Amino acid sequence: MLTAIVSARGAQRWNAGHPWIFRSDVVERPNEDAGAVRVTDQRGKPLGVALWSPRSEISLRLLDREADAALDAGWWRTAIERAIVRRTGLASEANAYRLVHGEGDALPSLVVDRYDRWLVVQLMSAGLERYRHEIIDALRDLEAPAGILARHDVPLRAKEGLETSVELLHGDVPDEIEVREHGIRYLAAPWRGQKTGAFLDQRENRALVGRVAKGATLDCFSYHGSFALHLAARAREVTALDASAHALARAEENFRRNDFTNGVFVEANAFEYLKARERERTRFDTIVLDPPAFAKSKASLPAAIRGYKEINLRAMRLLSPGGMLFTASCSFHLTKPLFLEMLAAAAADSGRRIVLRELRGQPIDHPEVLTIPETGYIKGALLEATD
Ligand code: SAH
Repeated sequence: MLTAIVSARGAQRWNAGHPWIFRSDVVERPNEDAGAVRVTDQRGKPLGVALWSPRSEISLRLLDREADAALDAGWWRTAIERAIVRRTGLASEANAYRLVHGEGDALPSLVVDRYDRWLVVQLMSAGLERYRHEIIDALRDLEAPAGILARHDVPLRAKEGLETSVELLHGDVPDEIEVREHGIRYLAAPWRGQKTGAFLDQRENRALVGRVAKGATLDCFSYHGSFALHLAARAREVTALDASAHALARAEENFRRNDFTNGVFVEANAFEYLKARERERTRFDTIVLDPPAFAKSKASLPAAIRGYKEINLRAMRLLSPGGMLFTASCSFHLTKPLFLEMLAAAAADSGRRIVLRELRGQPIDHPEVLTIPETGYIKGALLEATD
């Protein structure tokens, strides 16, 4: 294995618990294609073994602090098994959840999601790609899946100089897989759906919403209706709203699958819809706001905050007395303090008395490591209008 030498600043990042070293902190670059390298500081002190991505801005990703760790089949199997063990108990609640959450599970740039008997994987760095066989073998050995699909159609791979495509790696993977989640069933679309086929990261928040839902309810940004389904189990009626007709068609299908007949499906822009309902003084007893990431970059944060504040302010005004709002943001750049600040500002302008019932984050299958901010992106709040 070749060696990379990193600056004091690079070494300091690792010592502070973050696995990435950027291009500018690599003092001596290994003369090798992507793979794994040993890393030392400028005095020659060994720091560990890392994935090496020659074309990426993130040059090194720490895998093991043992400088002589052999990254053989056994190493990968142990590391993946450790992540899987962390999920013990989840299978009784749902048949779809994340098995490996990249840096959150000390397996940088690797994502593995389980959908019933199938796995969807994403190998998102050039260094990791070198270990494709070890990773797939370990997954087959540990999980005995009926099929493994690579959702490699992600922009991150292009930044690493890797091809972007959707590729079947083992067995067969169907177009649609039925997900069972806290008593609700819906179809995931592993080949073409968003992310790896569904938004698994909101699973526990959907269950929470299912427990508090009542009366007339609204699910904005509904996608395939996964929050709406949990609302429907308890509420009188559910309005599932999305800008995409295709997403709504799938939401309707999911309602039929659960024998729910209380769904209304509205194709609209959420901003316009909320504004119009406010003008009409409509009231909802339960509202869900789970928008796409408005802040895709740091530069777009101010505009994003204005957007978040607008939809939250309007939703607060639409709540009936005692009504509940579950609101979320999946923008990494909108930090937890900023999220709460935005909600407080919306509450102040809404003229309502808004109580924070519960602050929410990611489920345990999406572990957020305190020293690696990038592992955490979902913020959620369950709010109640008490006036
Ligand atoms: N709540 C979903 C995930 C939502 S993804 C779940 O838990 O599975 C975001 C959704 O917002 C997408 O389906 C997208 O079509 C929709 N969307 C994006 N912008 C929108 C807008 N301005 N108005 C309404 N829907 C929008």
